[in-house]
Amino acid sequence: MAFELQKLPYAFDALEPYIDAQTMEIHHGKHHAAYTNNLNAAIQGTETEEKTIEEILSNISALPVAVRNNGGGFYNHNLYWEIMAPQGAKQPEGDLLKVLNESFGSYQNFKEAFTKAALTRFGSGWAWLVKQGDGLVISSTPNQDNPLMDLAEVKGTPVLGVDVWEHAYYLKYQNRRPDYVDAFFNVVNWDEVARRFKG
Ligand code: MN
Repeated sequence: MAFELQKLPYAFDALEPYIDAQTMEIHHGKHHAAYTNNLNAAIQGTETEEKTIEEILSNISALPVAVRNNGGGFYNHNLYWEIMAPQGAKQPEGDLLKVLNESFGSYQNFKEAFTKAALTRFGSGWAWLVKQGDGLVISSTPNQDNPLMDLAEVKGTPVLGVDVWEHAYYLKYQNRRPDYVDAFFNVVNWDEVARRFKG
C-alpha cells in the first residue's frame, strides 16, 4: 500500500496573513508531495511496504536513511497541516491547558520554551510539544526526524510541531524565523492538539 499525499484541510490562503498562500501551495504541493513520493520509492518491494508510518518510525534506526528522511517528512507534514487552522489567536483550554500549566508553569512559559526550541534549532528541523506519559515536554529535532523515531533524543507522541525549514517561511519572512514562529501561534489548531494529547 503506497502512502498518499493528504489533502490540505483548508484552502492555500486560509492561514493568511500569518502563512501566505504561495508558501502553503509550494510546501504542500512540492515539498510534502516529494517526501511522500520518495518514501514510496524507498520502501517499494520491501517488507516496510506493509507497515504503518508509526511502525516505520518506531523502527527507523534499522531502515535506510531515505526512509528516515522521507518517512519523517511524510508524517511531520501531515501533523503540521492538521495542527494549524484559520482560527485566530485561540489558546489551549481544558485538560490540555491544565497539563501545560503543570508541565511549564503557565501557557506563557510554554510558549517561550517552545519558541526557544524553534529558534535555537540550527539549520533545518522541527520544534515539538511531546506527550510523555501524562505530561508534556518540549524538544527539537534536526532534518525530518521526530519524537516517534527510536533514535530521537526525546521520545514520545508529538502533539504540536512547527516546521523551521526555511521552505516553511522564507517567501514571506526571509531570514526572520522569529517572526514566522510568532505568527504560527495565531494559527495553531488547539482543538486538534488537544485531540492528539487525549490520544
Ligand atoms: Mn516542510
